[in-house]
Amino acid sequence: MQSKLIVQKYGGSSVGDVGRIERVCDKIISYAKKGNKLAVVVSAMGDTTDELIELAKKINPNPEEREMDMLISTGEQISSALLAMAIHKRGHEAISFTGSQVGIITDKYHTKAKILKIETDRIKKELTAGKIVIVAGFQGKSTKSEITTLGRGGSDLSAVALAVALGADMCEIYTDVEGIYTADPRIIKNAKKLSFITFDEMLELAARGAQVMQTRAVEVGKKFNMPIYVKSSFSEKEGTVIMDKLPHIEESVVRGVALTENEAKITICDVPDKPGIAARIFNDLARESVNIDMIVQNVSHKKMTDISFTVPKDKIAKTLKVSKKIADNIGAGGIISDEAIAKVSVVGVGMKSQSGVAAKCFSCLAKHKINIEMISTSEISISCVVKKDLGKEALKVLHKEFGLDKIKG
Ligand code: ADP
Ligand code: ASP
Ligand code: MG
Repeated sequence: MQSKLIVQKYGGSSVGDVGRIERVCDKIISYAKKGNKLAVVVSAMGDTTDELIELAKKINPNPEEREMDMLISTGEQISSALLAMAIHKRGHEAISFTGSQVGIITDKYHTKAKILKIETDRIKKELTAGKIVIVAGFQGKSTKSEITTLGRGGSDLSAVALAVALGADMCEIYTDVEGIYTADPRIIKNAKKLSFITFDEMLELAARGAQVMQTRAVEVGKKFNMPIYVKSSFSEKEGTVIMDKLPHIEESVVRGVALTENEAKITICDVPDKPGIAARIFNDLARESVNIDMIVQNVSHKKMTDISFTVPKDKIAKTLKVSKKIADNIGAGGIISDEAIAKVSVVGVGMKSQSGVAAKCFSCLAKHKINIEMISTSEISISCVVKKDLGKEALKVLHKEFGLDKIKG
């Protein structure tokens, strides 16, 4: 059999304790024994990253982002070294590296750095020497030689970017579910595993709450057309290939639903209805790097209007501060924030050529007496904001309405 260069990534729960590291190690060795060259990316063990963030907040509620990166990058360093030790114990050659050591070069933006390039010489040298190369995920080194991290879930990105840089034959993401499902299988018990999903569909699902793949990792896969194979670390079952085009001739219109409870709704009330106000509000928020998702401007009443938008919950304090300043400056009435919201989305490339999907989605929610507070659409998705306590119910009824429990994966 011809030897392949495979990049594999094992997520946090897959290396959550010693027993799991041992199992992952056996899996890696079985691939190596088939003559494959392996570069393995690992996440931090279990909830290590969350725990490190909690720890930092106990010391300083507003830690500097440089120091946060120094701290949270350590989780992956631990798991990569332990995995290398486990491989050594079994008599195979392996070497672990930090992102910095293997030349994953990023920009300077701590906690959300972008990869600029990957210097592959060192990895290639070790692979040629017959070693299994283990790379700590989620991290790199900035052009100023500072340690950076790549945003939450960033080990997915490390793996896909490495696969692209190395020209790998395969990029495999091992996680705690068997692949990409029509909905989060932990919430929707009869969700169906998909054999294939397009980059575009996966991008929409990921951006709308399906945490199984980091959005930026899918973007890199799409940009370089690197298929990503998502499968379970705990079973041998077939997973899901994320790829450019589906191999089927025709597809069901909706292919997945997603839920996020991580956003909050901000309303600036009684905003003067005149040109330039929206530009001012959103420019000021952009300057503070607050990512806005949905925006709704109500119908003007007596030359006044309300503007509502959603932001990630961890940006709410910053958003309120900026919005308050803007509201005072433009003579707006006041600000209301609502954290008790959820956003449900339906996604499918087939929507491009099919009408009536939005109507079906809204009718389904109405039939179940779920009020829609905000709506946004793209070519291949529809998202609705609902009350938080109705989010899971909304996901469930939409999953059924679009026949996703019966879809052929
Ligand atoms: P890892 O630690 O391996 O990176 P994550 O926790 O980041 O794993 O992602 C896996 C989780 O994503 C699953 O446990 C599942 O609950 C969740 N998930 C959300 N939406 C989906 C979906 N459509 N298909 C599969 N898993 C999903
Ligand atoms: N450990 C990092 C996180 O929890 C990166 C990852 O798991 O992909 O976000
Ligand atoms: Mg993840």
